[in-house]
Amino acid sequence: MVSLSKILIAKAILVFCFNLSFNESVPFYTVKDNIVEVPIMKLNFYMMNRSDAEAETLRSIRKNVEYLNKEFQDVIKFEIEQFFVDEGHAYLPDLHQEYFGVEELTVDSLVRDLESKGTINVFIFESYFIEDLNAELMGFTPIFKASHKEYVNASPSFDRIFLAYNALGKQTTLVHEMGHFLGLDHPWEMSEINQGMMGLHDEDAIQENHMAYGPRVSGFTNEQLARMQHFALQFRRYLVNRSEFRLRGEIAFNQ
Ligand SMILES: [Zn+2]
Repeated sequence: MVSLSKILIAKAILVFCFNLSFNESVPFYTVKDNIVEVPIMKLNFYMMNRSDAEAETLRSIRKNVEYLNKEFQDVIKFEIEQFFVDEGHAYLPDLHQEYFGVEELTVDSLVRDLESKGTINVFIFESYFIEDLNAELMGFTPIFKASHKEYVNASPSFDRIFLAYNALGKQTTLVHEMGHFLGLDHPWEMSEINQGMMGLHDEDAIQENHMAYGPRVSGFTNEQLARMQHFALQFRRYLVNRSEFRLRGEIAFNQ
């Protein structure tokens, strides 16, 4: 069993194209090189501390997934597999705290019997305002810092994203957490060289990026999208249950 305390971090968010040009001169025999794989990943949503599914929450979740697909621009496609309701209750900041400390996690007793293999499992809990931070914790994602190859062996324990009910209205939180789930870091954790490689060339680009915090976040860079697709196919392949194959030109046309 993987020792949780030493090797993972739980990335959190607080409140406040690659170039796909269609080359007309491509001869027939290189068509294979122009085929792009679009992995399809399935999502389960677990509405915790609930005895019934509320129509409003279901609507919000569907909107979140629509936005997620829009922001991933057909580089990865997400589909909702199932909704679950469970009366298990904990507060999101307490669960987040746990991931940094103890070996035995409350969260395991709450979610281990519920979670499915082969899907990205999104657990929605209540959150609260943290006075010291002057912010509410909206979501977090437990990840391996380095040994990404371990994801497949640890499945489904590291196929979790945690969201606050309050994050559903905002929609950018799920996108940000999916960024962590697929290998992205916060801009301030990266060296300038790495920022540049991810297309984050100046302060405006950073402020507007989904991996930053704040009101201006609005998109991923093409470099980040390419990185996440690569990460999904390499390290999260066990969660890709099928792929679509398209000609590069089709995707360029769709954009
Ligand atoms: Zn984060």
